[in-house]
Amino acid sequence: MSEQNKTGKVGTGTRLVGAGRRREWTGPVVNPPVWRASTHLYENMAALAEGPRRNEDGRFFYGRRGAPTQWALADALTGLEPGAAGTVLYPSGVAAIAGTLLTVLRPGDVLLMTDNAYDPSRAMGKGLLADFGIETRLFDPFDHAAYRALFCDRTRAVLLETPGSLTMEVPDVPALAAIAREHGALSVLDNTWAGPTGFAALAHGIDITVMALTKHVGGHSDLMMGSASAGPELYEALRKRAQGLGIVVSPDDAALALRGLRTLELRLNRETSSALEIASWLAGRDEIARVLCPMLPGAPGHEIWRRDFAGGCGLFSFVFRGGDRARRDRFIDALELFGIGYSWGGFESLAVPVDPAPLRAVMRWPPAGLEPGDRHGVRLAIGLEDPADLIVDIAQALAAAMAGG
Ligand SMILES: *Cc1c(COP(=O)(O)O)cnc(C)c1O
Repeated sequence: MSEQNKTGKVGTGTRLVGAGRRREWTGPVVNPPVWRASTHLYENMAALAEGPRRNEDGRFFYGRRGAPTQWALADALTGLEPGAAGTVLYPSGVAAIAGTLLTVLRPGDVLLMTDNAYDPSRAMGKGLLADFGIETRLFDPFDHAAYRALFCDRTRAVLLETPGSLTMEVPDVPALAAIAREHGALSVLDNTWAGPTGFAALAHGIDITVMALTKHVGGHSDLMMGSASAGPELYEALRKRAQGLGIVVSPDDAALALRGLRTLELRLNRETSSALEIASWLAGRDEIARVLCPMLPGAPGHEIWRRDFAGGCGLFSFVFRGGDRARRDRFIDALELFGIGYSWGGFESLAVPVDPAPLRAVMRWPPAGLEPGDRHGVRLAIGLEDPADLIVDIAQALAAAMAGG
């Protein structure tokens, strides 16, 4: 258990500054040194014999079980998640999702997956999990009756995500997790969007919370990593499975992620206020049919976001009015301050096209209230630039998109 959990009353900024800083691991310096280690040398035969016997963080054995740099990051993340006993680090967010699902599922089991999950998670259902004899059934997280009806005696787990990928709807996670628990199923949440400081997943009934640290925690678009945090029993199971799969992360990347973590709140606050300003501006434009931003009043799931979340971030989408796909593409091409690229959570703003229809099996796209043509969207990841400059850029790109072609 992290030292931070004992002083869980202090504010987020204070927790982020101290998270994972254990003198016995990091010595007198502020940041844990990068321990590049495969071999740990033992004092003598007795110490060597002890090595494999005590399989726990904080005890050297061999590089695959980590060293202080990775332990400090895992400990920091555990300390930020109320109710967590430990955190396993993975070499990417997708590896964290796969490692978690391969921990809780067995051949013959059924996984219920939210239909608006991150696309590689949906692909995992049809690929990796199917190959291992695990069946995935997709559900609409807003249709609780249909979701409830999907449970059977083989349903072992549900995979949730909030907000939904690309379309950004915020479901009632506590209610969905409670229904899973009633049926004896575990709930896993992809909490990459809000992270532990924005949404306390375990405190809201989730059993395992997964994050792509690649996004906000790294924060500088220069590393790939994932994490899964859970209470004592599931943490041990996750750790055992990860060790069985030979999963380990680079100490250099762990040090970068720890550095990113220190400024997480500052960056998220800036991104959130800029995103809200830009989303509000877009909501007033005739070219735009809908803005899909959880922090924006009136957006799908906004009320639940207000009820459950302590913060937002810079990632949101919007949908153009009418079915002119080329116009949407011209808009993205005309942006000057936004890079065209995947990922998000870095300091720089990004834009990608969003065409969710082929990525939804049971949810409707476009959703109720939009015209059938209102289907081409854009996802913006708002970075740390001045929001006024980003709005000027978006305005000129809208003008170019409407004029050209
Ligand atoms: C990016 C992302 C992932 C995967 O993370 P990688 O580190 O890119 O593998 C998982 N879930 C969500 C919601 C993401 O945005």
